[in-house]
This record gives sequence, structure tokens and C-alpha cells, in this order.
Amino acid sequence: MTHPTTVVLARYAEGGRGLDDAALWSIEVHLDACAECREQLAAESTPATAELLDRVAVSLDQVIHTSPLPARRRTRAGAAHRRLLAWTLLPWLAVTVAVLGCGVLLNSAEPSLPSLVLLLAPVAPLPGVAVAWSQRIDPVWELIATTPAAGLAMVLRRTLAVLVVVLPALLMAGVSTGTSLALVLLPCLAFTAATLALGAFIGVRRAAIALGVAWSAGVLLPSVATESLSPVLQPGSNAVWVATTVALAAATPFAATRFRRLASGN
Ligand SMILES: [Zn+2]
Repeated sequence: MTHPTTVVLARYAEGGRGLDDAALWSIEVHLDACAECREQLAAESTPATAELLDRVAVSLDQVIHTSPLPARRRTRAGAAHRRLLAWTLLPWLAVTVAVLGCGVLLNSAEPSLPSLVLLLAPVAPLPGVAVAWSQRIDPVWELIATTPAAGLAMVLRRTLAVLVVVLPALLMAGVSTGTSLALVLLPCLAFTAATLALGAFIGVRRAAIALGVAWSAGVLLPSVATESLSPVLQPGSNAVWVATTVALAAATPFAATRFRRLASGN
């Protein structure tokens, strides 16, 4: 770091006499980061500046003590945003629950079909997760992306909001059709973790679409077409799903910093 010279700091303290805009700007940026120079500047300040600073401090103190607290407005904005997100998510979650309900009905009407609840479970949370983190439908996305809460923490919070609705729906569908609950819940969690891990690189929305298409083409449609459940959903595959979920969940925090940098399309 190159510190401004004493002469330059002294001129800055006197109001920037003889310094051009670029020099003033670079001194200000430097002062922002350098405590040493801030101390030196305080020592260089003229009696007039010191008096002005004192007056500003006193009047700021008065304004702060007589103004209402700003916290209420912030909370209201946060609550409004949460309401907005809930309204955006609700239709998607309703569709997910309805599709699961149709799966249960189809299975009871056509018992020869492989369990549709098992086949739909991995992709059930994906539309909700994609929508919860889509800047296209989030009118305050830019505002959120610049806040310290952006990034992985926000992705996790929103994903949790989706799972709070999807997991009980899956449990109910699993119980009503008598399918293995472990094979309903584990693939659902594994695909959610995979969406976040892959989403760190290509965007959550694209990751959700890619995984949904891959599962539909590789497992769902062939299972329905051949009327036999894919080997990946047979009871023996529990251990593989547990290992996959744990590995993906453990990998996601390592990609955390990437969530801040995703520019578009997520
Ligand atoms: Zn300095």
C-alpha cells in the first residue's frame, strides 16, 4: 500500500487545495482502508476543521437521539419480500403436490404401474427450488444479491422453505401407497443437494432443469414404459442414496462463494 505523503495529507486536510479530482478520490479511497493515515489526517486538521467536525458530531448526535428507529421500516420491507416470495412459490408448490396426488390416484387405479410416488420423489422439489432462486421472477433480486445475506445462506433458507412443503406431501403420498419412505425421502434430498451443488456452477435454475430432464429420460419414462421400477429405486439402493446425499451436501459449502458471482440465468 502506498500512503499519501505528509504534504499531500496536509493539503487534503486544508480542503484539497492544489489537488485534482483524481488525487482527492484516491486519497479518500485510501483513507477508507488505512487507519494510520486517518490518524495522521486527524493530527493535520486545522482548528477550523476540528470545530466544524465537533459541530457536525453534536448535531448528528441530536438527530440520532430525536429520530425514530429505522428498524421498523426494514422489518416491514423484509416481511413484504417474504410475502412476495411465498406468493411466487405457492403456485409451483401447489402444482407439485397436485402431481404427487395424481401419482397416488394413478397407482391405485392402475396397480400394474411402478410406484409413481417413488419415481416423482427425486424431481418433486426441483420446480420449487428453481423458482425460489430465479432472478427472472424475483423483482428485488438485484437488491437481495447485494446484501450480505445473499449467497449460500439465502439459497439454503429458500430451499428449506420448499422442502417444508414438499417433504410432508411426499411422506403422505408414500404412506398412502405403502412405498418405502426411505426411498421416497433419500432421492428427494439427494436431488435437492445435487441441484445446489451443480447450481453453484451453472445456476440453480439450469441445474434443476438439467437434473429433472436427466431423471425423467433416464429413470422415470423407461420405468413407466416397461412397467418395472428402475434398479436405482429398488430397496437395496438405500445405502447408495445415503452416501450420495451426504457427499453432495458436504460438497455444497465448498462452492458457496460461487453463489455470489452467478451473474445471469440462475
Ligand atoms: Zn495510509
